[in-house]
Amino acid sequence: MGAALCGAVVTSYNWRDGRAGHGRPPTIRESRPRMSFAVPGPARQAPEAATLTDLDGRLVECRACPRLVAWREETAAVKRAAFRDWTYWGRPVPGFGPPDASLLVVGLAPAAHGGNRTGRMFTGDRAGDVLFATLSELGLASRGTVTDRDDGLELYGVRLTSPVHCAPPANRPTPGERDTCRPWLVRELELLRPTVRSVVVLGAFGWQAALPALGAAGWAVPRPRPVFGHGTRTALAPADGRGAPLHLFGCYHVSQRNVFTGRLTVDMLREVLAEAAETAGLGTAEERRGGGRAVPPDRAPGGLTG
Ligand code: SF4
Repeated sequence: MGAALCGAVVTSYNWRDGRAGHGRPPTIRESRPRMSFAVPGPARQAPEAATLTDLDGRLVECRACPRLVAWREETAAVKRAAFRDWTYWGRPVPGFGPPDASLLVVGLAPAAHGGNRTGRMFTGDRAGDVLFATLSELGLASRGTVTDRDDGLELYGVRLTSPVHCAPPANRPTPGERDTCRPWLVRELELLRPTVRSVVVLGAFGWQAALPALGAAGWAVPRPRPVFGHGTRTALAPADGRGAPLHLFGCYHVSQRNVFTGRLTVDMLREVLAEAAETAGLGTAEERRGGGRAVPPDRAPGGLTG
């Protein structure tokens, strides 16, 4: 299946199904071979989205990656025993956070029993538990414990997304799946461009995926490309010379393995997020906790919550 085409098959009327026709011979129209209509894929759908809400609505219908579609749906049907009472989301998971976010956090892909179950980025898995607790501690989230899409969580000036929007087997999307999904991220970045000032990328996979998307969305990515590392920081100028630079931060992924082995500690995560938030004009944690959230000088008032 090509990157630009989804696999949805649309059939109209099948006279052989025993319900139609009432014994009469088929009309010329009905006797034509069954037709399949390819639904446009991300490369066609994403650039047409006018808003993030529009983008998210198109995204959740995407079926462009046959392997990931099969996996996300099988996982949703079989379930994990601990979640057998859940109705899994089982679809692409859209980004989450206000449409005028100043800080974007880019992960890898939804977890099979996390985002693929709850339908919200990072919600329902150990990585999300660490991330939301830290965002809350920094005054960037309304709560540190999250459970589902209806738990009332709000993010303040922060949006979460990923370069691959469907849960992959073994948390490993292929390069082809990453590339097929890229137009969704490119359009999300374009729509956030008026306000986003910092991007924190969690892990090397996200970094490799984010750089070409940032280039396609209008920022000048240097050659050779910046190398991923925890604590890496670089500024990308707008390619057209207009607007503010974008500050890119590397951070080890908040995966259970990284946290368990100590490769990424909560202190390390907090440090990167705090620096990125302050750079984005969201103020310091103390200022946010004190109710004095800073507003970037080039932002309209009231742009920090969804
Ligand atoms: S990974 Fe992305 S491109 Fe592939 S089916 Fe999911 S949303 Fe569509």
